[in-house]
Amino acid sequence: MLESFPLPIDGKKVMVKPNIVVRSKPEQGIVTHPSIVTTIMAQISSLGPARIVVGDNPNTDGYGENEATMHETGILAAANGCYENIGTHAFPVDSNPRFFQKLAISRAVFEADFTCTREFIGAILKRRPQINPQTCEPCDICTKGCPMSALHLKSIPSVENDKSDVCYCCEEVCQTRTIKLA
Ligand code: SF4
Ligand code: SF4
Repeated sequence: MLESFPLPIDGKKVMVKPNIVVRSKPEQGIVTHPSIVTTIMAQISSLGPARIVVGDNPNTDGYGENEATMHETGILAAANGCYENIGTHAFPVDSNPRFFQKLAISRAVFEADFTCTREFIGAILKRRPQINPQTCEPCDICTKGCPMSALHLKSIPSVENDKSDVCYCCEEVCQTRTIKLA
């Protein structure tokens, strides 16, 4: 899998975002397995990035328990000193007021030149943001939340597929479920 993924990350800031979901043991198979994180960290480190940050926020049941969740899932050890609590470094952006006044965007995700791990899989599957013109409001939140500036709002957002690194931010911030990576 790693051989088929282009990794132009020399000198770049890389965000590794395993899906930690909830406090659980690796053998339960709920979260990204730490062995995957170990493998990815070794691969990324060998390619000369300027910085690697490993982090995620657990879902609402475990929100705020980032360190405990990372520890129990084994990902804290797999992060090899690169773990950062991305929940403590977030900044608010305006949201669609029909749903929320503000959304918190993690600074580590936003400032990264390159993010993985879901996009390792996404890129290999060649997923790209698909926008449903029937449901777009358009509120412009996805364009502001795109760390790669790959979305541009006209009457509805359009995607520069070459720029998208398949980070899923647009799908996650869209409150009308207009964007799906497919
Ligand atoms: S796709 Fe979603 S977030 Fe983007 S402008 Fe449309 S409604 Fe807003
Ligand atoms: S998945 Fe969406 S938010 Fe992420 S880089 Fe691509 S267009 Fe931007």
